[in-house]
Amino acid sequence: MISKKEKAKEIGKILDKFYPKVPVPLDHEDPFTLLVAVILSARCTDIKVNEVTPVLFAKADTPQKMVKLKVAEIQKIIKPCGLSPAKAKNIHTTSQIILDQHEGKVPMTFEELEALPGVGHKTASVVMSQAFNQPAFPVDTHIHRLAARWGLSSGKNVKETEADLKKLFPESSWNRVHLQIIFFGREYCPARGHVKEECPICSIYGVRNME
Ligand code: SF4
Repeated sequence: MISKKEKAKEIGKILDKFYPKVPVPLDHEDPFTLLVAVILSARCTDIKVNEVTPVLFAKADTPQKMVKLKVAEIQKIIKPCGLSPAKAKNIHTTSQIILDQHEGKVPMTFEELEALPGVGHKTASVVMSQAFNQPAFPVDTHIHRLAARWGLSSGKNVKETEADLKKLFPESSWNRVHLQIIFFGREYCPARGHVKEECPICSIYGVRNME
């Protein structure tokens, strides 16, 4: 029987074939605009975030400019992303903290990032990975689901799944693999209606009973 590590290696090869290049899904110019985009992406699609951020960044693409906007102004612009009262407040306060405590620059450690309002471990991982190219494995509910379906993790939550995936994939591949899994999930792995026999991964490597 194939070990989990071998299976991860094979799945990694398939993902490399499907997605040799992995563009960052959220449009941004620098760590600050990425951080804002990731805060906006909570419970919202990347497409919607990419529609909204050009309007927001035309007014404020730096923490200096962002704190000059009123929270209500930010809220009005980001409304299509949902949860706009909390997200607007978090973006404003985060910008102020970046100015007051980090000399106007997005901090580069998990600890400092996760201390910012609206920034949890997943958001911090995306920023570390995609803005600073530091090894991180941001696991959202989609990656959590795929890791379970592929039999790579039986983690009860995203934290446990992240720990499992980090053990199975080499650290040098984390930044690439997490995006490849997201792209694969979006294109081939819907929550319902998938055909296991036709699937390029589960037809060979899936171990769970498919719904
Ligand atoms: S068979 Fe279904 S669960 Fe497995 S990867 Fe394909 S689409 Fe996803």
